[in-house]
Amino acid sequence: MKKVSIVIPTYNEEGNIKILAEALLLQVSKLPQYSFEIIYVDDGSSDHSLSLVKQLTSENKIFRYIKLSRNYGHQNAIRAGIDRATGQCVITMDGDMQHPPAVIPDMLDKWEEGYDVVYTRRVDHVSTGFFKKLSSKWFYKIINVLSEVKMEQGTADFRLLDEKICNMIRNAKEVELFFRAFVKLAGNKQYAIDYVADKRNDGKSKYTVSAMLKLALTGITSFSVKPLHLATYLGLFFACSSVLFFPYIFYSFYAGHAERGWSSVLITIVFFGGLQLFVLGIIGIYIGKIFTQVKQQPFYRIEETNLYETDDTAKL
Ligand code: UDP
Ligand code: MG
Repeated sequence: MKKVSIVIPTYNEEGNIKILAEALLLQVSKLPQYSFEIIYVDDGSSDHSLSLVKQLTSENKIFRYIKLSRNYGHQNAIRAGIDRATGQCVITMDGDMQHPPAVIPDMLDKWEEGYDVVYTRRVDHVSTGFFKKLSSKWFYKIINVLSEVKMEQGTADFRLLDEKICNMIRNAKEVELFFRAFVKLAGNKQYAIDYVADKRNDGKSKYTVSAMLKLALTGITSFSVKPLHLATYLGLFFACSSVLFFPYIFYSFYAGHAERGWSSVLITIVFFGGLQLFVLGIIGIYIGKIFTQVKQQPFYRIEETNLYETDDTAKL
């Protein structure tokens, strides 16, 4: 019997855990040909998420949990789940009911047909916020211009990954692993399923504007050095175009009002100062990446899990 792992990153989702568990059990009951493990990865929640998950695990051994020692972020939580999953395929999905469990049987069908990656595309719900829609659209637009990897709009971390791809993820040394791009590059047989995103069942989105910006920057700078090239071209362009000031300067001297040129000098300094900062910033992002990479910090630390035992809580 093939085993399927479902990995759910969970950060302060106390209002969603029960309802998602019930919805998942419903799907599982329709798929008796597989065995399942449902792994909740608690990403340092400060609410009752963990105790609710523990309660689930005590009621039904299909549920498993991994408690991370602190909040490591969505992507690292998924990574922790994939690293420890034991299924022949892993399905990752959010814990807020935005990713409908009803899609799971279709995903498994496609996997059986031989696809390594079955990813999903969000078709926006009428109730999806205007800002979320717009930011997601621009996120993909910008990433596709700046990055070497082409990604489709609306693809989120709701996907099925074959064991082969999971092993690639387990072996990846990259600190800030950006799944969307990594998976796109890794799998050669990919299939997309469209689904309508539901509203978040309970609680607020953890992706604030700054978190989204950070993810966008990670996405761009993790898979491309194009921004570095952009900086070079921009710098070159402005340096060359500053030559255009010369005729103006000569004219000013000739006309005898050279001191009026102060304003243009000032503007030039400010402008090029800004440009240099911009370029430096881009270089800084990459250096920051090298810095975090060479530190070789662990991607996450597991504090507690019941993955390996049959009755009580195991301490790692
Ligand atoms: N999440 C997490 N760690 C974080 C932030 C989010 O594990 O630091 C989880 C969260 O509980 C949810 C999923 O990642 O299950 C997606 O987060 P959210 O729903 O806030 O993102 P959105 O759907 O708004 O993009
Ligand atoms: Mg969500």
